[in-house]
This record gives sequence, structure tokens and C-alpha cells, in this order.
Amino acid sequence: MLIDTYGRVATDLRVSLTDRCNLRCTYCMPEEGLRWLAKPDLLTDDEIVRLIRIAVTELGVTEVRFTGGEPLLRPGLVGIVERCAALEPRPRMSLTTNGIGLKRTATALKAAGLDRVNVSLDTLRPDVFKTLTRRDRHQDVLDGMAAAREAGLTPVKVNAVLMPGLNEDEAPDLLAWAIEQGYELRFIEQMPLDAQHGWKRDGMITAGDILESLRTRFDLAPEGAGERGSAPAERWTVDGGPHTVGVIASVTRPFCRACDRTRLTADGQVRTCLFATEETDLRAALRSDAGDEAVAELWRKAMWGKKAGSGLDDPGFLQPDRPMSAIGG
Ligand code: SF4
Repeated sequence: MLIDTYGRVATDLRVSLTDRCNLRCTYCMPEEGLRWLAKPDLLTDDEIVRLIRIAVTELGVTEVRFTGGEPLLRPGLVGIVERCAALEPRPRMSLTTNGIGLKRTATALKAAGLDRVNVSLDTLRPDVFKTLTRRDRHQDVLDGMAAAREAGLTPVKVNAVLMPGLNEDEAPDLLAWAIEQGYELRFIEQMPLDAQHGWKRDGMITAGDILESLRTRFDLAPEGAGERGSAPAERWTVDGGPHTVGVIASVTRPFCRACDRTRLTADGQVRTCLFATEETDLRAALRSDAGDEAVAELWRKAMWGKKAGSGLDDPGFLQPDRPMSAIGG
């Protein structure tokens, strides 16, 4: 098991397949992009599958989420999914994507064994999308989501971040649209993981703001007596159900005490937390011919040192050097 000193057990593995992205969201990276990881530094497909196999068969991981950057930019993605689907026990597998490229790949991903997708979409307005992402690809994202739904990668979850002066007024419209389309919408508070280090707590739209805005049009009731376990989203039933909306209050109501995550970067580093400032190098172990048990032991040791939480409220909080695009969400 991957257990830490606080008794938390990590069963949910996030695997970043690339740090590259085909959008340039203003809250994530600068217009010119970032210095990408060099190809030789990236894990190969075989190395990724081996690490996932070790996680699933030796370390108790039951959920695997592929992230990026943008994971659909990884040429070997379908093959990786297919090989992971053949593992015993078979992990549940999902993908967090910006949706561009899903139209082309959704059917193959489903056939390979992917269970579902989370697509990021912050706005229904093509002009706002273009300002926010610096790319004119709004329709591609909508098409990608529809393709995922048709392929059975369901429930299709939509992740939205609201930002002041840009899309802060869109919460009710996004929810009405998601219900109509049969998607599960979740709002996520913006976190300080941007490459530009421009995040400001007093500039963010909070879960409280989002709920207030939604309540101007919908009746919301907490689902399951407000229990969320290790799930980051607090879910609300909309207008008596059956539709729901999730709010992930990563900053104002963190869920670190129930965290069940472990993360692997595209260059083979274990991160115990989104905000970890230390990493454990599994790629070096793989490339020096370490056996499965030695790799598993390194991973266990890394997780044992996991901190209590994000540290966002600590006076000395330091944003990690790696931006979100190189960690994976
Ligand atoms: S901030 Fe870190 S400890 Fe808290 S939920 Fe996220 S990954 Fe887990």
C-alpha cells in the first residue's frame, strides 16, 4: 500500500503523459509556452506502463487518471490505455483533457478500455474562450465532448474555472447547458499553480461566490448530507434532481485530510501532492535496471513523507517550481 504518516492511503494515481499543450490558457502558462521537457527525459510508453503495473499490482492503486499538459498530444496514448486495461486487477481509467482531439480519438480510447473523460471548458462564449486560451478552438472542444458522449466515455465531466472580469457571470448558463447536454459540471476554484506565479487569493472566485451565482437561477441542496469522502467535489442536487453540480473548493475548503492521490510526472518523478516541493526520481531507478520491488519501495518511501496538506494557509507557503501543466491536474 501507499500509506503516509497521517494514515491516508493513496489509491488514485495521476499520470502526466506530456507537459505540452495546444492551448495557452492565461491562468496556466504564458503566450509563448514554456520550456518543454526534452524527449530523452520523458518516460517511454513501456516505462509508463511498467510504473502503472507496479502501482496497480504491488501498491494498491485502483484508479488511474491520465493528464498532461494535454494527454491527447501523447502519440502512444491509445496503446498505453490498452495495455493498462489488460492489467490484473484492471484499474478504472479516466482522462483529463481540453477536449481538442477527442472527436478523432474518443472511439479508439473507449475501445482500448478508457472508462471516462473530464473535459475542461470555462465558457460558452467563443470570444471569451479565445481570449482565455489564446486559441480559436471553442467548437473543437464542444465537438470533442459530444464525441466522448457518443463513444460512451461517460459520465462526461466538465471542469470549469471562473475568473473575475472574464467569465464570472457564466455559472448559471454553464449549468443549464451541461444539464441539457447530459454532462456533469464541476466548478473548480483556481489554485496557485500557474507558471507565471500571478495567482492572488483576493482575486479568485470562491466556491461561495459560485454557489451564490448558481442560486440566482437554481435550487441547490447538498447531496449525501454534505459527505464527500476523498472526492474533491461537494455535490449539489439541482432543482430537486436528478441533475447535480459539483464545486471543488480546493482553496477555501481543502480536502487534504482525505487525500488519496499519488502523482507521476511525464519525466518519471513521484509527487505526493500538487503542492509538493520535493520529488522522487523513479525514472533513474528504471534506467539503472532496478527491479519492480525496488521501484515499489522507492514509491512507498516517497508517500510515507507526504505532507499533511497543501500548505496554502501557511504564512511561509511557497508555490512549487513545477507549474500545473507539468504536474497534471
Ligand atoms: S493539495 Fe495535496 S494533499 Fe491536498 S488534496 Fe491536493 S494533492 Fe492531496
